[in-house]
Amino acid sequence: MPLPYDTTIGLEIHVQLKTASKMFCRCSNDSEGVQPNTLICPICVGHPGTLPVINEQAITMGARMALAIECTINPQSKFDRKNYFYPDLPKGYQISQYDQPLGIGGHIDIEVPAPEGQRTSAHIRFNRLHMEEDAAKLMHDGADSLVDYNRGGTPLMEIVTEPDIRSPLEAKTFLQELRLIARYLGVSDADMEKGHLRCDANVSVQLDQNGVRVTTPISEIKNLNSFKAVESALIYEAERLYQDYIAGGETQTRKNKITVGWDEQKGVTIMQRGKEEAHDYRYFPEPDLPPLHFSHEDIDALRASLPELPAHRRERFQTEYTISKADAHILVDDKALAEFFEKSASELAEWMSTDGVLSADSQTKSYQLLANWLLNRFVAILNDKKIPLVDTKVTPENFAQLIARIAEKKINSSSAQEVLGIMIDTGADTDQIIKEKGLEQVSDEGLIKELCEKVINANEKVVADIKAGKENALMFLVGQVMKESKGTAQPEMVKEILKGILSK
Ligand code: ADP
Ligand code: MG
Ligand code: ZN
Repeated sequence: MPLPYDTTIGLEIHVQLKTASKMFCRCSNDSEGVQPNTLICPICVGHPGTLPVINEQAITMGARMALAIECTINPQSKFDRKNYFYPDLPKGYQISQYDQPLGIGGHIDIEVPAPEGQRTSAHIRFNRLHMEEDAAKLMHDGADSLVDYNRGGTPLMEIVTEPDIRSPLEAKTFLQELRLIARYLGVSDADMEKGHLRCDANVSVQLDQNGVRVTTPISEIKNLNSFKAVESALIYEAERLYQDYIAGGETQTRKNKITVGWDEQKGVTIMQRGKEEAHDYRYFPEPDLPPLHFSHEDIDALRASLPELPAHRRERFQTEYTISKADAHILVDDKALAEFFEKSASELAEWMSTDGVLSADSQTKSYQLLANWLLNRFVAILNDKKIPLVDTKVTPENFAQLIARIAEKKINSSSAQEVLGIMIDTGADTDQIIKEKGLEQVSDEGLIKELCEKVINANEKVVADIKAGKENALMFLVGQVMKESKGTAQPEMVKEILKGILSK
């Protein structure tokens, strides 16, 4: 059922960069499994008299991301101090970018798996991308509050969208695409569960009231840290704004944004502060850091360093390999899987050209066969055995050989499944396994005919059924012949031969 209101959403996203060191000092940026407060120095804990130095790797990563999302890189940008007082910020200010961010504008286009009646593609514009340092991590443990300064001063990029998002599902899909772009660029693992990617979601609701289009004020939901939380919190908050508005609640008179938190357990938002309590950050230019300059040449070089991006790769997989759109999405959404597919596909082309058995048409079909076997069988077995794709013993070359043997009908699909299982366990190559296990498909017509006749003679009743018009009974006979051949016959061929004999 369509909702009685429209939803408008804009996101502010923080992405932790995978640099070697922190944003303005040489402390390590890799704190996984490290004791709290061991990756710190006088700069990142804000001792007076220390001077920050800009991490060039962080700027390069930010600029590559900016270009990947079609932002314009500012020829000159600068850092500013954002002042606030809180235990997670020992300097009393955060170094961020205010009026001259690294990147401005930009957009991405996404496909949305939306229900009927809603748009299935969306053009989401960006407002800006800027660089900043992260604050320390506060941990509340009963009455104690603990601070881990390891995270203090680590590099972040903040990406702000225009309010172009129309539904909570779009917000989630958009964020997943942004994560994928960051992963393709290698600038962040962008794992929401690990806090590499954090999102504040702004939402307002538009509705008709006495024939007039009205809008509610904006709610900003802070610090969402899973895709599910983004979607659920937005669904909840949009509905709450609508219900409050039509009931004549505070949203009717409120002029400004409110800030809310999301209580995952209870599934509700909780008021944090209204505008009257809002921060005044007293931004001013950071006097200790020089401005950043980008020439046309710098920008061209950065652009040239970008890898193929997910949206482009999905399109290309569909045209180059004629695989389905759905499969292209599943493959590209996992960079390692997409790369395994692509390597296997090129090996497959090689197998088939050396064997010289296949026409161009069956070559095209074999790519879809490859995608099917990769996604429905190989990945399924790996998942079952909890083996990550990067750790598998099966090389793209061996996998391609398996697919070539299926495409050439050298083995049938049940034998291929058996071969694949052995390949995963041992890393042995396809042809070797086929030979050792005697799985080569029998396409010797004479031999299959013999088996068919044997089965027909042994199953008079079934034969009578088939002749009386029970077509299904034929499959029983096919099954019997397959059994006689120990699974090596070609089922299609068996069926044709049986039909031929029975029609006489
Ligand atoms: P603030 O300074 O309070 O964070 P901004 O104007 O910078 O406000 O906007 C922050 C976010 O609010 C942006 O992501 C923007 O897309 C979003 N936003 C702006 N207008 C709306 C709206 N009417 N409904 C929902 N989100 C909005
Ligand atoms: Mg904000
Ligand atoms: Zn430091």
